[in-house]
Amino acid sequence: MSDKFLVIGEAREGTLRNVTYEAIAAAKKIQPEGEVVGVICGDTDQESQADEMIYYGADKVITIKHDNLKAYTSEGYGQAILSVIKEEAPFGIVMGHTSVGKDLTPKLASKLESGLVSDVVDLELEGDTPVFTRPIYSGKAFEKKTVTSGLTFFTIRPNNVPALERDESRKGEVITKDIDVAGIRTVIKDVIRKAAEGVDLSEANVIVAGGRGVKSEEGFKPLYELAEVLGGAVGASRGACDAEYCDYSLQIGQTGKVVTPDLYIAVGISGAIQHLAGMSNSKVIVAINKDPEANIFNVADYGIVGDLFEILPLLIEDIKKMKQ
Ligand SMILES: Cc1cc2nc3c(=O)[nH]c(=O)nc-3n(C[C@H](O)[C@H](O)[C@H](O)COP(=O)(O)OP(=O)(O)OC[C@H]3O[C@@H](n4cnc5c(N)ncnc54)[C@H](O)[C@@H]3O)c2cc1C
Repeated sequence: MSDKFLVIGEAREGTLRNVTYEAIAAAKKIQPEGEVVGVICGDTDQESQADEMIYYGADKVITIKHDNLKAYTSEGYGQAILSVIKEEAPFGIVMGHTSVGKDLTPKLASKLESGLVSDVVDLELEGDTPVFTRPIYSGKAFEKKTVTSGLTFFTIRPNNVPALERDESRKGEVITKDIDVAGIRTVIKDVIRKAAEGVDLSEANVIVAGGRGVKSEEGFKPLYELAEVLGGAVGASRGACDAEYCDYSLQIGQTGKVVTPDLYIAVGISGAIQHLAGMSNSKVIVAINKDPEANIFNVADYGIVGDLFEILPLLIEDIKKMKQ
């Protein structure tokens, strides 16, 4: 049996996403002595991305450069990665459970006639058998899964498996593969980014999320200020998005983004089950709400009952003082 694990890297604007490094750590956890092979598709900065994968634990990185890989399409990336999988014949494959990961991995798994364990939040070895933990029923319960035959193919939720320590002294082989990616039926004409600048919501360690209680677009200003002093990102409930206080790209929950930051501050959010589905696995939850009966307090580690417009300026001021 092969001892190779393939890690599919994902870059955004030339930089690998953190979940790529977390995926390397996940592969190493399953096969501590095995070979971890990274694969990166695209057309820019692949050399430095390959080096980064090695610093974070990959033994070898395969880069594939092609005009048809400039923008992500499942057809283009699928063709390129499938050809690497066939050549390398790995024991397992892992990728981040991101929008690209959610789109690409089921297609690869179906082509390989393999299973896929998606949205893994924890993994451990029982003897030689990897056991994967994943949330079900919108995060209300967890199930444990093992793979009994074929490829061990899984995706990991960002921010759940800690990456290994970055070590610039690590050495590894970087191979550039010439793969013909042809017959792509999808044409990407333009990419319009809706998301705000700054820290990426799905990978942020700190999130300040606002709900309908924030009352207006203007009301989000102190949330942005608090996020900035904490080095975090701003998110929102669907209530706030529906009310047009902010863009839908900020929505967290069952039909929005699923996040697991170290700190989640819910401001003026009631805590509907659909919202909890996207954030209840955050490590520490702080809720600010004027209603002591609000459901958000049932999942919060710390609760502040009061008017958010009075509390936020005090918090920002105190944190600024602490940082001086
Ligand atoms: C199929 C489906 C999918 C859905 N998906 C999602 C999803 O992905 N994400 C999501 O969030 N929702 C989702 N929803 C909607 C969800 O059910 C709730 O309607 C929504 O989360 C409510 O948003 P909210 O908490 O901001 O608003 P509200 O429920 O109106 O809560 C506002 C809160 O603000 C508090 N408040 C008001 N003023 C102040 C103040 N001055 N200071 C402090 N607190 C104050 C209030 O006490 C209240 O608790 C979905 C619903 C359905 C049916």
